[in-house]
Amino acid sequence: MQALDDLDSQHAAAVAQEALQLLAELNIPVIPSNFSVWFTYVLGRSDALRRTIDILRSNKRSFDKTVNRELYGTFLRYNSLLHAGQSMQEELGFILRNVKDNLSEAIHDNGLHASGLSQIAATLEGKNSELALQQLSHELVLATERASSLEAKLAAASDELDQLRAALEQAEVNSKTDALTGLANRRALESFLRSEQIRAMERGAALSVFLVDIDHFKSFNDKHGHQLGDQVLRLVAQCLQDTIRDTDFAARYGGEELLGVLPGAAISSCKEVAERVRKRIADARLTKRATGEHIGQVTVSIGATEFIPGESYEALFERCDNALYHAKQAGRNQTVTG
Ligand code: GH3
Ligand code: MG
Ligand code: MG
Repeated sequence: MQALDDLDSQHAAAVAQEALQLLAELNIPVIPSNFSVWFTYVLGRSDALRRTIDILRSNKRSFDKTVNRELYGTFLRYNSLLHAGQSMQEELGFILRNVKDNLSEAIHDNGLHASGLSQIAATLEGKNSELALQQLSHELVLATERASSLEAKLAAASDELDQLRAALEQAEVNSKTDALTGLANRRALESFLRSEQIRAMERGAALSVFLVDIDHFKSFNDKHGHQLGDQVLRLVAQCLQDTIRDTDFAARYGGEELLGVLPGAAISSCKEVAERVRKRIADARLTKRATGEHIGQVTVSIGATEFIPGESYEALFERCDNALYHAKQAGRNQTVTG
């Protein structure tokens, strides 16, 4: 989405008026988030938002609280966060390039002056002004040395800025990653899944999710300790990540609950993938690293659901959680669809 700085006030007023009219027609409360969504829609600067709203309108979907919140969350809130990060990076890069360019130019100029003066000194050799020219030349050599030392200091400063930029990038990754398992965290999951829901509707494609929960994990922790429990959680996460494709998505939803998101997959293939994950975990034989002691196996139960076009993130998740509940009820170590 582009910035709005170039919008003249007359055009902005006309867009705002049309947005307000649409809000009234569609019975959408005029609050800042809804206004931003519909202002952006009328302005036509976000193709994805425009297509999504058009699909929702042609399907006669009502713009209730949930839909409105999702539109804002997907297209406005996350975008503005993203843009803030991007513009900061761009600004850093711009400052650095500017400083480097100016400095190289200054040093080059200084070098030219020095060699120019040496030439003059050579032509005036033997005359009275020789001493003065030698002094001038010496001054310029000193100035060039000063500039070189300044260049070295700036190169060090630029290294520091590079490190700062890398740290910022790392912080961005960390803010989306769960530290224990290395999977995406809940925040990143929410952002990914909401966008995939919209994409699935746009393309008329399937989208499925499955929720993995470790069986009797509390008693495992009680028996073997929390640290070993953490290792098991990492193993389950690894099995999940290794089973799905690169275009799929794995996240730690909560304590011992992991979620797989499979764009393009209908429920039948989602169940197959979920079963592969489940079997892989059940087949793993656990041993204590320190002592080599065998500690048997761990199993998981899985609930799997296919997204119904138009349903909210929360509703999709609730159905998946229900399916998981039934898997537990039916005796655990199995996948139930719902
Ligand atoms: P069920 O088969 O019904 O899922 O039983 P459960 O004991 O796994 O379920 P419950 O929800 O009662 O307990 C979940 C347990 O997961 C509680 C907590 O000890 C454990 N747990 C949650 N997060 C972590 C974690 O980060 N590390 C470890 N080691 N354990 C965790
Ligand atoms: Mg649980
Ligand atoms: Mg559990």
